[in-house]
Amino acid sequence: MATINDNYLKLKAGYLFPEIARRVNAFTEANPDAKVIRLGIGDVTEPLPAACRQAMIQAVEEMGSRDTFRGYGPEQGYGWLREKIAAYDFQARGCEIDSSEIFISDGSKCDCGNILDIFGSNNSIAVTDPVYPVYVDTNVMAGHTGEVNEKGEYGGLVYLPISAENNFTAEIPTQPIDLIYLCFPNNPTGATATKEHLQAWVNYARANGSLILFDAAYEAFITDPTLPHSIYEIAGARDCAIEFRSFSKNAGFTGTRCALTVVPKTLTAKAKDGSDVPVWQLWNRRQSTKFNGVSYIVQRGAEAVYSEAGQAQIKALIDFYMENARIIREQLTAAGIQVYGGVNAPYVWVKTPHGLSSWEFFDKLLHTVNVVGTPGAGFGAAGEGYFRISAFNSRENVVEAMRRITEKFRAS
Ligand SMILES: *Cc1c(COP(=O)(O)O)cnc(C)c1O
Repeated sequence: MATINDNYLKLKAGYLFPEIARRVNAFTEANPDAKVIRLGIGDVTEPLPAACRQAMIQAVEEMGSRDTFRGYGPEQGYGWLREKIAAYDFQARGCEIDSSEIFISDGSKCDCGNILDIFGSNNSIAVTDPVYPVYVDTNVMAGHTGEVNEKGEYGGLVYLPISAENNFTAEIPTQPIDLIYLCFPNNPTGATATKEHLQAWVNYARANGSLILFDAAYEAFITDPTLPHSIYEIAGARDCAIEFRSFSKNAGFTGTRCALTVVPKTLTAKAKDGSDVPVWQLWNRRQSTKFNGVSYIVQRGAEAVYSEAGQAQIKALIDFYMENARIIREQLTAAGIQVYGGVNAPYVWVKTPHGLSSWEFFDKLLHTVNVVGTPGAGFGAAGEGYFRISAFNSRENVVEAMRRITEKFRAS
């Protein structure tokens, strides 16, 4: 008799986005003329940069001729792309990262889940609360947790609460934890980490033999020049951290798919016999066995991000979204609503006014001004009382949504 991975039964039903869709659908059915604006999405809206499109068109043409056709590429990604990434994203910022330590993939979401293949099943694991749900759910699937409680917390995971009280940066734990997920700039709170904060984490990790899984999907949105873009800007991080990066948000590749994971060759973890094993070796083996690389065409598209034109075009894209974020922050503040984030990240994290719960505020915005956001409680128990508004949208939608909200809330 075939059996299933019972851990999947522990997953709480995909609650957040289906529930948002259910409430929006019910509202639009009852109010077919309402022009609903969706500021809940975590997907980009603007077209692919021209430099990336042109590089991919050329790559498609190369595939049409026997001389330049490419079959299987290296599982780790083509050297020319890995070298550009190493030079532009890491070495230019003083990070000691070699191209051989960069693994190209089809997404950070997959890498965040797949990385668990190479770690033991008895690690203690910490996530922040609120959190990007992928870190939690992939650990549930891998059997690293117990059951979920009524607050949505899984047994066996350590939740590190983040809120306005701690500036949305978790306190460094007092107990040793083996695997720690950090995401800066943060989804959903839009918070960032200073070099000092990351140094404290790196020091903690090295003292406790912990490994940090650092998600830098939003590093391109950092505007404050004092903030680190990579954990490898921090002394000692090569010995305790893996970093995930993606072309999804900086270059609009959410549908095109290209990302990367950095595994320094100096990073080790313990085998059962107590020996120190290089993590790079295991990830290289895992990728070579279970992955056959990202499409040549897409890797050429990603490479074009590093051309002069590509750099200018992605800067314009990011500036566009960050101007949306500025408008959202400014207008909500003017309406008397407390906001966080949105300065170095494309998410504005709103304190729900008048003590409304996340879902009460969701319903109020939907019903009174026909604007949709994401209830903070959907990202974890400590997200209750907050609400995420995304800057990924057209200028027109952002301006109109903010006009409606300020009009409504100024009056009330
Ligand atoms: C969007 C996002 C990613 C990127 O995922 P891809 O699979 O590369 O598209 C990674 N981490 C977080 C927190 C994100 O929001």
